[in-house]
Amino acid sequence: MDIRGHAAVVTGGGSGLGAATARRLAAAGARVAVLDVNMDAAQGVASEVGGIAVRCDVSDADAAAAALAEARAAHGAARLLVNCAGIGVAKRILGREGPQALGDFERVIRVNLVGSFNMLRLAVADMSTLEPLEDGERGLVVSTASVAAYEGQVGQAAYSASKAGIVGLTLPAARELAQFGIRVMAIAPGLFFTPMMQGLPEEVQASLGASVPFPRRLGKPEEFADLVLTCAENRALNGEVIRLDGALRLPPR
Ligand code: NAD
Repeated sequence: MDIRGHAAVVTGGGSGLGAATARRLAAAGARVAVLDVNMDAAQGVASEVGGIAVRCDVSDADAAAAALAEARAAHGAARLLVNCAGIGVAKRILGREGPQALGDFERVIRVNLVGSFNMLRLAVADMSTLEPLEDGERGLVVSTASVAAYEGQVGQAAYSASKAGIVGLTLPAARELAQFGIRVMAIAPGLFFTPMMQGLPEEVQASLGASVPFPRRLGKPEEFADLVLTCAENRALNGEVIRLDGALRLPPR
C-alpha cells in the first residue's frame, strides 16, 4: 500500500521506535495519530509531523476505543496500525527477596501483549469498513516483538513471554483477517538506540553495540521505521515476524 494520504496510528509514538515511525510515515505522506500515555511526548512528535496527539493507555479497552475514535474523527479510519507502545522490566523469577511478584509479570504482559492485541482488535474493526484498494487490501497492522521473544536473557521472563505472545499472535491474526484484506506483521528488533538505551552509561552502550555482528553498533530507530514502511508497501509480506538485528543472538545474560 502506498501510505500517502491514508491515516495511520502509531502507539508509543512519543518516543524511540514509535517516534521514528511517526516521522517516517508522515514523510511518506500519511496522516499520523501519535498515541501514547505520555501526552507531552506525543504532542511534541505530533506537532513536528503535522499529526495529532492522543492520550492512550493501550492496555485499557475503553481508553483505546476512545483514542481510536478521536483519531478517526480527525483523519478517518486508519489503514495502518503500528504497535510500538511497550515497557521493559528486568526482574528475576527468584531473586533475593523471594519469588517475583505476580503483579510485575502481569503488568508487562498487560502492556506489551494485551495492549498490542487490544489495539489490533479495535483497529481492524475500523479497517474492515474501508474501501478495498489494489488486490482487495484494506490495511495492515505491524506490531513490535523483540529478539528476546526467541533468546530471552536472565531477568527477561515477563518481557520475553510478552514478546513471544506477539510472535504467536501474528500468523493466526493474519490468517483470520485475510478475509478482510488486512495483513498482520511483526518486527523483532535487536538492540536499538532509543531513550531506553540512552539512559545507560556510554561504555555499556558501546559494548552492547559491539556485540552486534554487523553493522557493529546499535540499530537506528530510522532503520526500524524504514522496515515498517516496507511492510506497508510490500503486499506479499503477511503473517511473518521479521528480525531486525544485525545477526545478533542474545547470550543468556
Ligand atoms: P521507548 O520507551 O523509547 O518508547 C515506548 C513508548 O511507549 C513511550 O513513549 C511510552 O510512554 C509508551 N508507552 C508505555 N506504556 C504505554 C501504554 N500502556 N500505553 C501507551 N503508550 C505506552 O521504547 P522503545 O525503545 O522505542 O521501544 C518501543 C518498542 O520496541 C517496545 O515495545 C519495546 O519493547 C520494543 N523493542 C525495543 C528495543 C530497543 O532496543 N529499543 C528492542 C526490541 C524491542
